Amino acid sequence: MSTPVIVWLRHDLRLADNPALFYAAQQGPVIPVFIEDTIYESPWQPGAASRCWLHHSLDSINKQLGGCLRLFQGDPLTVLSQLIEKTGALAVFWNRCYTPQAVSRDSRIKQTLKTAGIEVHSFNGSLLWEPWEVSKGDGTPYKVFTPFFRKGCLNAPPPDVPLPRPQLQSASDPEYSNQLSLEQLGLLPDHPWCERISEHWDISEDAAWRLLQQFTTERLKHYQQGRDIPSLEATSTLSPYLQWGQISPRQIWYYSQQQATAPGLENALDTFLKELGWREFAYYQLYHNPGISDTNLNPRFNLFPWRNDPASCRDWQRGQTGFPIIDAGMSELWQTGYMHNRVRMLVGSFLVKNQLQHWLHGARWFWDTLVDADLASNSANWQWVAGCGADAAPYFRIFNPVTQGQKFDPDGSYVRRYLPQLAQLPSRYIHTPWEAPASVLSDAGIALGSTYPEPILDLKATRKQALEAFSQLKQQS
Ligand code: FAD
Repeated sequence: MSTPVIVWLRHDLRLADNPALFYAAQQGPVIPVFIEDTIYESPWQPGAASRCWLHHSLDSINKQLGGCLRLFQGDPLTVLSQLIEKTGALAVFWNRCYTPQAVSRDSRIKQTLKTAGIEVHSFNGSLLWEPWEVSKGDGTPYKVFTPFFRKGCLNAPPPDVPLPRPQLQSASDPEYSNQLSLEQLGLLPDHPWCERISEHWDISEDAAWRLLQQFTTERLKHYQQGRDIPSLEATSTLSPYLQWGQISPRQIWYYSQQQATAPGLENALDTFLKELGWREFAYYQLYHNPGISDTNLNPRFNLFPWRNDPASCRDWQRGQTGFPIIDAGMSELWQTGYMHNRVRMLVGSFLVKNQLQHWLHGARWFWDTLVDADLASNSANWQWVAGCGADAAPYFRIFNPVTQGQKFDPDGSYVRRYLPQLAQLPSRYIHTPWEAPASVLSDAGIALGSTYPEPILDLKATRKQALEAFSQLKQQS
């Protein structure tokens, strides 16, 4: 039998269009491994919802691989070096990760293994365009989304065409003394919440494909009008599959274009592909500004007078603000590990601009509770919402949760779904329960302050405060 090669799986837990697996399989029998990296101390280690998703993803890909995925915990360099020694492997393959930590870890590992005479091959398995491949005419990175996408990405060579599933030969692969079972990895948080999230999703490569097919055949035609309406199933919900790599952006890019050939779908398709472009832009920003997960991209905001009020943050986290669209969003997140994009923008604006809490409080809560938590997209979007990021929403644009609720959830279907305690309220009051007459509240079985909170703040007054804080900031800087 020829010499085995090691494939180090990370955010690429699929067989199809997996360049590391595909090219490794051409070189010899493959030993696929997953290593939970425990040596970095970082607030951005996978959060609880991500660990839950990861557990099921590993279970699923291990089955696809006929049970030969090897699981380890510790320093990836030590684990890989031990494996190389035991198996005699002469090459390690992986698909690139893009967080600053992963970039520096991987280049250190690559250097050390190469010095020891081991071949290392790394590939792009997670992006349409590598962040260093797209730049302005003068060689500097783009700062604004539209030229980044339209001029930079769409004029660059097209993304590689997806690869098929590889023909894998299994290596004669012994059990290793430091190998762990999935249960021993201990990824699943010991909390009933995790079971609820797991039941909500079908976590596998096949399920990601079914979603993509369903999206292109049923949802895409309504995407443009429907994607802002949180009660509708109008978006793809592919984000967590993209995050852990059950599907690749190239597969989505090419498959959606192949399928959406019917007349009238051009605009919907264009909008959908642009959303994939926002994902690229987030990775691009993180690559070129590695500090964006923790510090304001626009340093002017370093002087912003955020309030540090844990009780206020807790009201927000628990969906106890008294504003139905905000509380429904936080409830959707808690119940499913996901939140509709429009509502993410609303809850973000509420936390940062009405409650005046630092955007990092929101980013950290999302990090722990979102199944699609992604350092690039989460950081870039929170900075966008707060007004301090690249191409950000201007700080003075403050979403009003009442008018936004009335516009995007006019009959309250979304609110009723996630806040059943308000389900009987007439549509007229569904976004303003505090305005409902006592008899209407009592008929709907609602006791404000008891079954549902009174509003925790005054929208007008807090908006004024935020604008004043912002104008002071402008004067100071
Ligand atoms: P679709 O509408 O079907 O879009 C297709 C894909 O495009 C998505 O799966 C996603 O990969 C990408 N995409 C769409 N919108 C965006 C966007 N604004 N930024 C980056 N990529 C986008 N997305 C994450 O994947 N992980 C996060 O941690 C995350 N945190 C966010 C935090 C805030 C405050 C906000 C406002 C948005 C955040 N988003 C994040 C972006 C967006 O909300 C989700 O990607 C989207 O809701 C996923 O649903 P979908 O797959 O149905 O999207």
